[in-house]
Amino acid sequence: MDTPIASLYLISVGALAMCAFQAALLARSSSYVRACWTFAVICLTFALFQLSNVRQLAAPDLAVAVTAHKWVNFFSLLLIPQIWYLLASLDARKWSFRLAYAVGCVTAWLLFENFVAPYGYRFSVLTVDVPGELWWGERAFLLAGETTPAYAINRLLSLGAAVYAAIFCIRARSERVRFSNRLVWLSVVLIIVTTALGGATDAGMLQLPFLSGFGFLFLAASYLLLVRREATQRLTDKIRISAALEREMESHKRASLRFEHALSNDALTRLPNRVGALDLLHRMFVKSESNLTRMGVLLLDLDRLAIINGTRGYEAGNQLLVEVAQRLRDHCGKRMLVARLGSARFVVGIAGHKTWAGIESEVEGILSAAKAPFSIPGTVLNMTFSAGVAVYPDHASSAEDLLASAGLALHQARDAGPGNLRVFHPSLQQSLNERIGLETELKEALEKEQFVLHYQPQVCAATERVVCMEALIRWHHPTLGLVMPDKFIPLAEATGAIAAIGSWVIDAACRQMSNWRENGFTDLRVAVNLSAQQLLVSDLGEAVQSALQRAGLQGGDLELEITESVLMQDPQRSIERLEALRALGVRLSIDDFGTGYSSLGYLKLLPVHAFKLDRSFVRDIGRSAKDLEICATAVGLARNLGLELVAEGVEDAMQAAQLRKLGCHLLQGYYFARPLAAYAATDFLANGRKVA
Ligand code: C2E
Ligand code: MG
Ligand code: MG
Repeated sequence: MDTPIASLYLISVGALAMCAFQAALLARSSSYVRACWTFAVICLTFALFQLSNVRQLAAPDLAVAVTAHKWVNFFSLLLIPQIWYLLASLDARKWSFRLAYAVGCVTAWLLFENFVAPYGYRFSVLTVDVPGELWWGERAFLLAGETTPAYAINRLLSLGAAVYAAIFCIRARSERVRFSNRLVWLSVVLIIVTTALGGATDAGMLQLPFLSGFGFLFLAASYLLLVRREATQRLTDKIRISAALEREMESHKRASLRFEHALSNDALTRLPNRVGALDLLHRMFVKSESNLTRMGVLLLDLDRLAIINGTRGYEAGNQLLVEVAQRLRDHCGKRMLVARLGSARFVVGIAGHKTWAGIESEVEGILSAAKAPFSIPGTVLNMTFSAGVAVYPDHASSAEDLLASAGLALHQARDAGPGNLRVFHPSLQQSLNERIGLETELKEALEKEQFVLHYQPQVCAATERVVCMEALIRWHHPTLGLVMPDKFIPLAEATGAIAAIGSWVIDAACRQMSNWRENGFTDLRVAVNLSAQQLLVSDLGEAVQSALQRAGLQGGDLELEITESVLMQDPQRSIERLEALRALGVRLSIDDFGTGYSSLGYLKLLPVHAFKLDRSFVRDIGRSAKDLEICATAVGLARNLGLELVAEGVEDAMQAAQLRKLGCHLLQGYYFARPLAAYAATDFLANGRKVA
C-alpha cells in the first residue's frame, strides 16, 4: 500500500479525519450546530470511503478488490443521505428534511442491493477485473463494468444533491449568507467534475481512480475555513457584546447608586434629606434602645428664610442654607446625625447620652454653633432659629414619633416668635390642634371683619399731653373672644397672611386718625407696628402712600414702629427700606429697643426718629440699679443721636417720675392708659387722662 496513489489517499484520509475533528469543534461555537455535526460525520464517512478506495486500488486479487469495492460503495452510498441531510440543516426547511429522510430510505435499499449483488450495487457484469495501469505508470485495481439501474438511481440522487446544493448556494448568495463564497463554489464544481470522472471510470471509459474524495476534501477545507471565520467573528462579537454589556451594567449600577443617593440626600446642602434622615434616625434609635441611652431630636427652622429669598433672591437663600449645613456639619461631626428635612428645616440626632443634661448641653452647643451672623456677598445677615426638641424615651417610643414630637415643639417655638426653643410636652398636641384651627380661621378673619384696632396713647413726659396713639391689633374671635396679637401675629407671619392684615392695619389706623382730625384732635399722630415681611418684602411705600391719601393725611401724621430684631435681620436692606419710607415724611421708630443687640455704629445709620425702650427695662427701673443704668444709657444714646426716646410699659407714677427725671421724652403704659377701643380712645383724647 505504499504506492503514490495509495499514499495520496491515505493523506486525504488523515486530512478528512482532521476536518471531522475541526467540524465537531466548531459545532460548539457556530450558529450551524446541526450542520457542523453532520459535516463532521460526512468527513469521517469520506475518510472511510477513501480508506476503502486504497484497499481496492491495492487489492492483491479480484476477490479482495470486489469486497473493498463493496465497502467503497457502502460508504459512498452512506454519503448521499448525509449530504442531503446537511443541505436540509443548512436550508432549515421542513420539506428538505423530509426529502433527506426519503433519500435515506432509497439508500437503505441500495445498501441492501450492494451487499447481496455479487459485485456490489454498481455493476451487474465486470468488464475490467484485473489491475490496470494508470497513465503515470502505477498499477491499481480499478473495476469497471456494466452499470445497474440502482447505480443510475444513485447517480440521480447525487445529481439531485448537487442541484439542490447549487440552488441553495445561489439563494444564499442573494441573501448574503456566509456560504456564498467563491471557495465553496469552486469546491462544488470540483466535486461535480470528480464525480463525473468517477462515473466515466466506472463505465470503463477512463483509467482513473475514484477522485470525488479529493474534491470533497477541498470542499471540506474551504467550508471549515468559512465556518471557522464565522465562529471567530461570533466569538469576537460575543466578547464585544459581553464587554459592552459589562460596561452597560457598570453604568447602570452607577446610575442606580446616584439615584439612590439622590433619593436620600439633599442636592443643595449634600446632607441626608427626609428619607435619608428617617433611615438614619431609625438606626440611631435602635442603637439607643439597645444601649439604654437617651436619644434627642433637635429640629431647627431658619427663621424668615422666605424674606431673604424675597429680598435678596433665592441664590442668597441657598447660600444661607449651605452655610447653616456647613456649620452644623462642622460642629456635629460624626457624633451626631445632621440632615435637611426641606426648605428651612434641619434635624440633628443626638445619641449616646444617659442624662437629660447631656442632651441639653449638646442642644445649646449646636444652637450657638449655628448662630448669627451670616455673611452673604454684600451684607451680613443676623438670622435666628426656631428650635424644637424631643427626647427618647421621655417623649416618644419610636424614631418617627420622636421626629413628630420635635415637630410639635418646633411649632410652639415658632408661635412664640423667631429665635425660640421649645421642648416637647404632651399638652403640645392639644395646642397644635388649636393652632391648625386658628390658622384656617385667621385666613378668613379679614374678610369677616373680625379684626379691630385698639389704641394706646403715648404722652409727653413733661406735659402729659397725648402726642401719639399706637394702634394695636386685636382679633374678635367668634368663640375665643378677644385674641391678642402675640397669639396670632407670628402665625400670620408664618402663613403669609400678615401682608394683607398689615395693609388693613395701616389703612384702618389712618382712617381713625383722619376721624380724630375731623373731631379737632390736630396735634396728634398714629403709630402702626410693622412686621418683618411688611418691611422687607411687600411694597410698603405704595400701601402707606395710598392709605395716607385716602385718609387725607400727611406723612408726619403716621409713625411706623419696627422692632429692633426685625431691623437686625438684614440691616442693609432695612436701611434702604426705611430711607424710602422716610422720604414719604413718615416718622419711624425702633420698637422694643434694647432687645436686639444693635451695635452703636449701626444705630447711627438708621434713618429713624425715635427709640422705644423695651418695657422689660422699664419694669424694674425702681428696683434694679442695672435697669436704671440701662435706661439712662438709652436716654443718653438717643440724645446723642438726636432722637426721641419713648419708654414703654410705664405702669406706675414712680416709673414715670424716674423716666421723666432721666430725660425720657415720651411715656407709654398702663399708668396712662391701657390699649383702648377706638371710641374709648376718643373719649380719652377728649377728657385727658380721666378714662384710664
Ligand atoms: P408693642 O408694639 O411693643 O406693643 C406694646 C405692647 O405692650 C402691647 O401689647 C401693649 O398692650 C403692651 N403694653 C403697653 N403698656 C403696657 C404696660 O404698662 N405693661 C405691660 N405689661 N404691657 C404694656 P399688645 O397689644 O399685646 O401687643 C403686643 C405686640 O404685638 C406689640 O408690641 C406689637 O409688636 C405686636 N402688634 C400689635 N399690633 C400689631 C400690628 O398691627 N401689626 C404688627 N405687625 N404687630 C402688632
Ligand atoms: Mg409697638
Ligand atoms: Mg414694644
